[in-house]
Amino acid sequence: MSETPAVDLRGGVAAAARRLADAGLLVGTAGNVSARVADRVAITATGVALGACTADDVTVVSLDGEVIAGTLEPTSELSLHLGVYADSPAAAVVHTHAPFATALACVLDALPVLHYQQLALGGEIRVAPYATFGTPELAAHVRAALEGRGAALLANHGSVTLGGTLDAAVENALLLEWLCRLHHRASALGTPRALTKEQQGDVVRAALERGYGTRKEIR
Ligand SMILES: [Zn+2]
Repeated sequence: MSETPAVDLRGGVAAAARRLADAGLLVGTAGNVSARVADRVAITATGVALGACTADDVTVVSLDGEVIAGTLEPTSELSLHLGVYADSPAAAVVHTHAPFATALACVLDALPVLHYQQLALGGEIRVAPYATFGTPELAAHVRAALEGRGAALLANHGSVTLGGTLDAAVENALLLEWLCRLHHRASALGTPRALTKEQQGDVVRAALERGYGTRKEIR
């Protein structure tokens, strides 16, 4: 790989971290962001203030975790990120301690589908059982919870989202936080209704037919 794409990749990860911090999803040094190109992963370093993250705060590693570029030690959740890349074709992974996602992950065993937008994440979002941060046990729980999904909640910890691009992983993190806030607000009013399997199937069919979420030129 030439130097330029690696620099762009590190800068892209830093920009994504700043965007998530601006949106309130990453606070202080909590959370981490990575992106993969071919056999390299650019990932935020441990102890970095993510709201002010720069390309120098992003370390490039191999898929085995060997450091290729950068001077800072990668995040303690490196094995979680590398495990997700081993399981899926995702190009980016976002891990947050976002307020509403984390709150719901202290209570729920799964986030039900209250709103059809959640189907963009694959349906009901599982809550991975609790394990200490940075451990292989946590990585294994999260990888299992992500099966067939673009997101998972981590019990008493936070959230993980994936994407086919860095932007998509960021958008999925923002969407998940919106859905968790929705669940919180709806639950304050009463017991939320979840969409039935039939209603969810109708949404998927309608989205496929109409190209939901894509811009359309007026002809
Ligand atoms: Zn964490």
